[in-house]
Amino acid sequence: MPLPKVVLFATGGTIVSSGASATQMTGYSLQGLRVEDLIAAVPALSEAADIEAHQISNIDSSSMTSAVWMKLARAVENAARRDDVTGIVVTHGTDTMEETAYFLNLVLKTRKPVVLTGAMRPATAISADGPLNLLNAVRTAAAPQAAGKGVLIVLNDAIGTARDMTKTHPTNVATFRGPDLGIIGMISGARIEFLAAPVKCHAESSPFSLEKLEAWTAAHGALPRVDIVYSHTDDDGVMVRAALAAGARGIVHAGTGNGSIHEGTEPALFEAARQGALVVRASRTGSGSTVEGLAAWQNAGFVPAGSLNPQKARVLLQLCLTQTTDSAEIDALFRRC
Ligand code: ASP
Repeated sequence: MPLPKVVLFATGGTIVSSGASATQMTGYSLQGLRVEDLIAAVPALSEAADIEAHQISNIDSSSMTSAVWMKLARAVENAARRDDVTGIVVTHGTDTMEETAYFLNLVLKTRKPVVLTGAMRPATAISADGPLNLLNAVRTAAAPQAAGKGVLIVLNDAIGTARDMTKTHPTNVATFRGPDLGIIGMISGARIEFLAAPVKCHAESSPFSLEKLEAWTAAHGALPRVDIVYSHTDDDGVMVRAALAAGARGIVHAGTGNGSIHEGTEPALFEAARQGALVVRASRTGSGSTVEGLAAWQNAGFVPAGSLNPQKARVLLQLCLTQTTDSAEIDALFRRC
């Protein structure tokens, strides 16, 4: 039996970072290691799959850009269309992994497994988590039961969906969680066990596609600008006005509680909507669903983010704005995606 072919796209992150000593867990460097070193460090990979590796970028994911997303998405989509490919793994920094995963989840049109993984500890660290995460990700990408579940995040023996998983801890290896739904699968030894499947849109059920986005970026130079404004005591709308001045077409307001808005900021958000920027009300609470609030907010066309956190609401709003600026249509897309 030939081994399943898994194509690996490396983008950077801690998984290919090195420190000066085995105990250096922060402040390490991205210089020196490449995707080939990663693969060489895990000999068991050659028993799990026939791996073909490509480097997309070599950046810390805190500096991720939508230009890298577009390049990565095109590479993944092309690999997924190949008959000889069973699944795809993307290695990525953990800081913004959830955003890239959700973007890919919304734009790819494949049922083949696409798995993002990374590491919390650099490759040189004592108890580095990257090698096992990579092996688990490759095994998941090669597993028939991982197909049709949208883009997945695999770290620390857990499998979660791109939509639900979020980074919850700055340094712990158990950082990825789905705050409300938890994980959908577990990896125990070599066994991959799925316990649930996502119901929100992905692949064929997603209203977005890479082709349409490529046409948009060719015509406009980039995805629509969407800024996140984080609410706090003494908030006075200055960040909303700055976002508008910078050309934001959308603003995700990470409000308090159920997407609440400081009275000092409310006039700036009303003005933003009046000038044509789409306002999404998300919550800074970290879990739950942000739903309708004051009638004045609904009447102004503010769209509640539902169960998306602010950074994922931003990804979805960027994609929505390539199709429509109508708040009712965007509200419907937020309920679906
Ligand atoms: N700062 C790193 C990154 O996101 C953290 C990590 O990969 O765990 O690229």
